[in-house]
Amino acid sequence: MLLLAGGRVVTPGGVLSPGWIRLDRSVIDAVGSGGVPDQPAVDLRGQWVLPGLVDLHVHGGGGASFTEGTGDEARQAAAFHRGHGTTTMLASLVTAPLAELEARAALLAGLADDGLIAGLHLEGPFLSPARRGAQDPRHMLAPDVGVFERLCAAARGHLRVITLAPELPGALEVVKAATQAGVTVAVGHTDATADVTLAAIDAGVTHATHLFNGMRPFHHREPGAVGALLDRDEVTCEIIADGVHLHDIAIRLAARAAGPGRLVLVSDAMAAAGMPDGRYQLGSKRVTVTGGVARRREDPGQPGAIAGSTATLADVVRHAIVAGLPVPDVAAAASTTPARVLGLGDRTGALRPGLAADLVVCDNDFRPRAVMRQGEWLVTP
Ligand SMILES: [Zn+2]
Repeated sequence: MLLLAGGRVVTPGGVLSPGWIRLDRSVIDAVGSGGVPDQPAVDLRGQWVLPGLVDLHVHGGGGASFTEGTGDEARQAAAFHRGHGTTTMLASLVTAPLAELEARAALLAGLADDGLIAGLHLEGPFLSPARRGAQDPRHMLAPDVGVFERLCAAARGHLRVITLAPELPGALEVVKAATQAGVTVAVGHTDATADVTLAAIDAGVTHATHLFNGMRPFHHREPGAVGALLDRDEVTCEIIADGVHLHDIAIRLAARAAGPGRLVLVSDAMAAAGMPDGRYQLGSKRVTVTGGVARRREDPGQPGAIAGSTATLADVVRHAIVAGLPVPDVAAAASTTPARVLGLGDRTGALRPGLAADLVVCDNDFRPRAVMRQGEWLVTP
């Protein structure tokens, strides 16, 4: 039995200050409030203890990518995020030629077999060129059940989320096929109206890929995908709360509209996360990072589209707290709710007895100082 004590422990019922956590090997055995029980403990006074972060949208980090490069590089990307507090993550692919997507899905399925990632997120190829962001429109395809099934097979049961644009012909058939296959369908990179989005939710969509980004702006007479996704209780809504992709007012409004059980914080990190400014790759697209902001390099003379983020999910957590979201709500949005989206809510995503000992210890400014996954320190306190 290992005891962690003295820190401010963020639980589903609120912050225990001070609180303690008792671990039985890889599992949380008990959580309580008050002073340290009379036994040796890891002293976490002055620190916050959050559940291990769960990131549903990650393309890379630490200079390595899930979208290109070798299997070892993909492992490096996963290890980078783990070391920064993300104990559970999906590997996100961007639109690419179909054969390449199949090959990447097969390669990443190997990482999922080894437990390094919780599965795959396909951000494409059934997206709208009108809202492509930094994605490559040349390889976007009309939704097709046969293509979906090929990608699903390549991922060998590890495909967890697919992002698509519901206004494209054939989209609803793919929504239904994916839902039947147990894959979460997310709306994103879409020019859909509110009505089209509502029809897709009726067909099985339950998630929003980076709400606001890659969607037509909210208008009071045509609230678009943003309005429809926020309005429906069965939809969980991702936001990239990194201080670059969204104004803090948009972060607060989305958090209030969705509520703590439906908001999901994601990093949308690419290879440049944790790295200096410079030139990077996101799928087939070249990206320049200046002042920590990643932009596509295709558009000479004008700022290119924002191309993923350079933030870790811990950075997003910190920014969301600075933007005014309550700490317990942030923990729900960065751990509990995304774990539920993955069907892992009975295994991880909260500091409560019976769940895996996945946690991140942060200093007063919410910078991660120690990370534990399944009872093992990845970064020691
Ligand atoms: Zn992305």
